Amino acid sequence: MRINIVSIFPDYFEALRLSLIGKAVTDGLLTIDAHDLRDWTHDRHRTVDDTPYGGGAGMVMKPEPWGEALDAMTASIRAAREQQPVPDRPVLVIPTPSGHSFTQQTAQELSACSDLVFACGRYEGIDHRVAEWAAADYEVREISLGDYVLNGGEVAAMAIIEAVARLVPGVIGNPDSLVEESHAAGTGHLLEAPVYTKPAVWRGLEVPEVLLSGHHTRIAGWRRQQSQHLTRVRRPDLLT
Ligand code: SAM
Repeated sequence: MRINIVSIFPDYFEALRLSLIGKAVTDGLLTIDAHDLRDWTHDRHRTVDDTPYGGGAGMVMKPEPWGEALDAMTASIRAAREQQPVPDRPVLVIPTPSGHSFTQQTAQELSACSDLVFACGRYEGIDHRVAEWAAADYEVREISLGDYVLNGGEVAAMAIIEAVARLVPGVIGNPDSLVEESHAAGTGHLLEAPVYTKPAVWRGLEVPEVLLSGHHTRIAGWRRQQSQHLTRVRRPDLLT
């Protein structure tokens, strides 16, 4: 999987060099390249924003630097695909609070893609014509991380990249851990039961006896029941 990110703060993505995602990059399972949108500006101040048509507070990201940046992304993806053809369309992810909710299902879908490009907005967002125009070369997905507003798309892109990249085969050492977790098929897409490790008694608190029993059927039953209980209490919406 190739991941390209365009942002006015590409340094945010340095953190992706750490931990399992960083190792996956070193091992050649993923490439992650962060680009500075201002490299596609042509004025002395490297301007990327302007006042909104129709009035209102804040500034809007100009379409011209975005158009040039995405042209460059498209050209580099095409060049890579000439060396190694792949059948799927590149996907342009635009993080936005007005997008479709990001879920494990979305992460699963994106993890099967060969090329992801992230367009990180700032200010009041990106001129909408950029998403319309990009649809000629990309499957465009406007995605919201949740029902709140961040200052920019960088943190949202990081969260999406981490959730997607860990599903790419080989990134997580033990693939079973992807099955037995919250929102995954192994838990029936519910929340995962509480987890414990040694010692069996810590500060007077005991690990539930069933987990020490070695009885796999009872353990599975306890986990299922805990999982259903937690989901009912915290996320009843998942039960429907
Ligand atoms: N005016 C926009 C609105 O009300 O929908 C909010 C703009 S926000 C201040 C600036 C940028 O942060 C957005 O363009 C988007 O890239 C990012 N962002 C903010 N909240 C987000 C969320 N919940 N999910 C994904 N991206 C978000």
